[in-house]
Amino acid sequence: MKKYAIGVDLGGTYTKLALVDKNGRVHCRAKLPTTAYKTKEALLTAIVAEIGAILKENRLSFRDLAGVGIGVPGLVAFEEGLVYSLTNVPGWKNVRLKKILETRLRKIPVLVDNDVNLMTLGESRFGAGRGAKNLVCITLGTGVGGGIIIDGNLYRGTSSAAGEVGHMPLKEEGLRCNCGSFGCLERYVGNRYIVDEIKDKIRSGRPTKIRELVRGNLSLVTPEIISKAAKKKDALAIECWRRVGKRIGVTLSGVINLLNPEKIIIGGGMADAGEVLFKAIRDTVNERALPVSKGAVKIVKAKLGNDAGLAGAAALFMPK
Ligand SMILES: [Zn+2]
Repeated sequence: MKKYAIGVDLGGTYTKLALVDKNGRVHCRAKLPTTAYKTKEALLTAIVAEIGAILKENRLSFRDLAGVGIGVPGLVAFEEGLVYSLTNVPGWKNVRLKKILETRLRKIPVLVDNDVNLMTLGESRFGAGRGAKNLVCITLGTGVGGGIIIDGNLYRGTSSAAGEVGHMPLKEEGLRCNCGSFGCLERYVGNRYIVDEIKDKIRSGRPTKIRELVRGNLSLVTPEIISKAAKKKDALAIECWRRVGKRIGVTLSGVINLLNPEKIIIGGGMADAGEVLFKAIRDTVNERALPVSKGAVKIVKAKLGNDAGLAGAAALFMPK
């Protein structure tokens, strides 16, 4: 078996690359500013050049690579390696990324998948999910993403679109979501919405340390600031994370009843809110999920941070 694969994490701001060994260890990171490339061709040329540079630096050749795995922020037809479109990266519509790169990378196998799927695979193989056969991973940030592992393998669904926990309904008659539907989880716990909600409460006169933390400028409020305030025992901030945790817990109770997973892994910037958020999630799941399933599941924080996607992209080429 070949010892190395290249993982690529194509993001809206940065495209990260790394050499990953068969134990999921990430070596030789590189970072390209995605938006600095005017066209997707220019970005792909830079990716190909960077892969060459990583190999050269490690005195490896294309023959030493099991393959190149690429995670992208959008929907992908996995078998064809076709990217339908990317959130926050303009100019990507129906791109046959696998085919284009395999041609340019001297026929090295290339696999393309959704970024949250690859983060899920990375955590499952090398991170917080090690040893669990069935798990669900969710990421909390601007959006809410999810990935599912069943019997050790990614479950992608019929059209590679499975795992969208963020667009599971939370409220029957809820607010309009970006996806076109109403009342989705993401519409209630996405970064922007949490921040808007707490700003409304601050404007209505609730006392809070958040005001000092942003020196009165409410446009500077972020989930990190809310976490900071919560760690200083600020009542409004703690209440915010409890409310968010309850909403996530309600949706996860449904996920747990549906899939009976061994682990739920929670990552993304918001997971740094820590115990106040996790406790609210666990308490809600305890109240709501079916006894046998909730007894079997552990709700834990993701371990690999930004490396999860890179390790997962490489893991596409590594036998279990
Ligand atoms: Zn939605």
